[in-house]
Amino acid sequence: MDTLNGKVALVTGASRGIGRAIALALAEAGADVVVNYLSRSREAQEVESQITRLGRRCIAIQADVSMRSDVDRLVASAGPIDILVNNAGIARPQPIEDITEQDWDDLIDVNLKSVFLVTQAVLPGMRARQWGRIVNLSSVAAQVGGVVGPHYAASKAGILGLTRYYARHLAKEGIRVNAIAPALIETEMVTSNPNAQPARIPVGRFGSVDEVAQVAVMLARNGYMTGQTINVNGGWFMN
Ligand code: NAP
Repeated sequence: MDTLNGKVALVTGASRGIGRAIALALAEAGADVVVNYLSRSREAQEVESQITRLGRRCIAIQADVSMRSDVDRLVASAGPIDILVNNAGIARPQPIEDITEQDWDDLIDVNLKSVFLVTQAVLPGMRARQWGRIVNLSSVAAQVGGVVGPHYAASKAGILGLTRYYARHLAKEGIRVNAIAPALIETEMVTSNPNAQPARIPVGRFGSVDEVAQVAVMLARNGYMTGQTINVNGGWFMN
């Protein structure tokens, strides 16, 4: 397993929830971390302080990862990135008939286009160094439909296609690309959704953010896994 000492990780949407836990776990495993967030600057500063206290370098950078101009500014300020965790996402639980074209565009832009934009921006550096790890947050929604809506399920299924394309085409260049498909992890995204109930989960409870973060660290350290989808879902979907 590769050491993460001296590696630099960028975690999008790391001010709270799963992204925050992944940022902290990567720092505990030795990485310096760039904490991206959209609007919760106080939470992001707290994550930055926690990581700095662990003895790692850390910077929090505001950027809307669904916008190319913000992504370019984010990656230029961050410097070379070795580990990219495309985690930022939104869920908008809606009945099928209420979903507007704007809802569709928003979910696809934030959840799917962002993965393309941020990956496109960090890849030249990874290719030059012939080492990189990319971890994309998909969802059980890509596999079973889920409890948010078709726009969310489609955005998360699109991430699996991106993951497999990049994995295959970058395998010879030292870059590994994998996806994590969680459900239902106890964050604001889940506790604010009345359709997300632990009774749906065979193990009978919500998952914890740390149970996802452990998997992200494993994928960052493993050089022989690529193109895979790792399910962290309490048994909801089995493959
Ligand atoms: P969360 O608690 O709602 O946190 C979302 C994070 O994304 C926040 O840090 C937020 O920043 C950031 N964000 C949202 N839009 C952004 C944008 N346009 N640009 C930059 N950052 C943005 O969500 P979560 O539950 O931790 O989910 C994290 C990821 O896992 C998402 O991709 C989600 O779809 C996926 N996932 C979650 C579950 C689950 O059960 N929780 C299951 C399957 C998949 P601010 O704090 O600044 O708003």
